[in-house]
Amino acid sequence: MGFSNVYGVPRWGQRDDVGAAVIDGKGIAAEIRAEVAARVAAIVADGGRPPALATILVGEDPASQVYVGAKHRACAEAGIRSLDVREPADCGRERLIEVIAELSADPEVDGILLQLPLPDHLDGAEFVDLIPPAKDVDGLSTASTGALWRGRGALAPCTPSGVMELLGRIRFDAAGRRAVIVGRSELVGKPLAAMLLAANATVTICHSRTVELEATCTEADLLVAAVGKPGLIGPEHVKPGAVVIDVGINGLGDGIAGDVDFERVAGRAGAITPVPGGVGPMTIACLLRNTLQAASSQ
Ligand code: NAP
Repeated sequence: MGFSNVYGVPRWGQRDDVGAAVIDGKGIAAEIRAEVAARVAAIVADGGRPPALATILVGEDPASQVYVGAKHRACAEAGIRSLDVREPADCGRERLIEVIAELSADPEVDGILLQLPLPDHLDGAEFVDLIPPAKDVDGLSTASTGALWRGRGALAPCTPSGVMELLGRIRFDAAGRRAVIVGRSELVGKPLAAMLLAANATVTICHSRTVELEATCTEADLLVAAVGKPGLIGPEHVKPGAVVIDVGINGLGDGIAGDVDFERVAGRAGAITPVPGGVGPMTIACLLRNTLQAASSQ
């Protein structure tokens, strides 16, 4: 059953070789980045200063370096000023507190992003909580999390925001729908549950201790996988015509794969995100948008 038959909306980037509409996250992310760039250009044309994002990277984790580099390139493309703050892997607790305090007090810095994970001797959650909510562009502090659940308009975490944005752009109305999220992390599963609840979905969160995962998933109109296990979700987990969003990014040899067995699930779902090119590109796009939002509200 096709997506357009289920929800009466146009198909997104449909491929001929699969049954489902393939949601073009890369294209949608590019649209958002262009929207942000246009708004930044308008601010600058009006004599304002461009929004500024500071990233803090502690240590030399290769994956973190790649992610931070990508964020800076995306900022540059959007006209957002970015500060690349680096500390050595043996950075002490007091020093990191000092760095965050300086950036927090700097009126020229709108957003602060602490790249996680930190080296083992530092507790990421402790330092994320030092970022003032108005500058917490990753939306991961306890204060931002609480505000999200209370519906108080906080800066929201980028990856679940990206998922919501994809759903909006394909005009999936979550109200009254059954949404099942597999994964309960602070980064993805839990904040996404808050967002879908706010959008009036009936939300179920599954995790490693869930019994009858398959039966629960098959009840979903919207199934989101955010686990980190390649191929965990197969067609047997999917209700025909459901929207399937794959957040997973799993390194596999020379490429990456999601948590969903794409080729087999695409024959059953109504719409599906690919990996790569689905949720992944949305995360940075939403970070840029959050930085713009932080600058506008300060
Ligand atoms: P995480 O913190 O490791 O959480 C994984 C969750 O999956 C946990 O809640 C865990 O349950 C649950 N889980 C593990 N095995 C399971 C199973 N067999 N059945 C059901 N649930 C199971 O991971 P995360 O940070 O949320 O990331 C999840 C995936 O998304 C990863 O592949 C990550 O790389 C990717 N990711 C992608 C983006 C993006 O931009 N696209 C951003 C962030 C993360 P318990 O809580 O019981 O342990």
